[in-house]
Amino acid sequence: MTSKITIAIDGFSSTGKSTIAKQLAKELGYIYVDTGAMYRAVTLYAMLQNYVSEKHFDIVDLTADLSNISLSFTFNETLGFAEMFLNGKNVEKEIRTIEVSKLVSKVAAISEVRKKLVNEQQEMGKNKGIVMDGRDIGTVVFPDAELKLFMTASADKRAKRRYKELIDRGDKVNYEEILHNVQERDRIDSTREDSPLIKADDAIEFDNSDMGLQEQFERIMSLVNDKL
Ligand code: C5P
Repeated sequence: MTSKITIAIDGFSSTGKSTIAKQLAKELGYIYVDTGAMYRAVTLYAMLQNYVSEKHFDIVDLTADLSNISLSFTFNETLGFAEMFLNGKNVEKEIRTIEVSKLVSKVAAISEVRKKLVNEQQEMGKNKGIVMDGRDIGTVVFPDAELKLFMTASADKRAKRRYKELIDRGDKVNYEEILHNVQERDRIDSTREDSPLIKADDAIEFDNSDMGLQEQFERIMSLVNDKL
């Protein structure tokens, strides 16, 4: 029997990390964890409690309330992936709005928030057999992961992907707003003090600006097979 490994996928916003991670998890029979969904759910909670908006951020209040935030994933057979639940409520749709996207990087820069989520992520991956995507998976959450990927693509390609996703689900957004959001999140994520988005030394970089999904999947599967 082949033993299970840990696959860490990091990279900039909308580089298709989750698409490839879901596909890998399905092929390998592994658990898939979208850590961005966890930061988004904490952000949604902070918005609902009025701790954060575009004009203010009560970091002390949010930090004091973190123990009341319970996050879990429940696999949806129809969709083929696990949906995010915040305090028992399915928030999969709410966490993907542009309003959450505009605030999430501010919330994700708070060390107490990161500490809570990193602990939960490490717990989920303790038996290996996991594909996790995010910004600090190969550097902080699983520095010993057997396979680390770092995904990049041009800002324009990434904004177009995100724009299409939001339009397809019926959101009213404009392209310039999305492009600005993608660039702004990358800036905050890469320059924050705690766990900035950087490529781990041993991560393999993938620029998929001009690479089709099938080609990307095949290349990554061959890397996985080398490790197994
Ligand atoms: O992956 P997604 O784009 O949904 O992530 C939303 C935001 O959550 C990122 O822009 C980043 O600020 C934060 N994040 C993080 N660390 C992770 C995953 C996401 O800081 N591991």
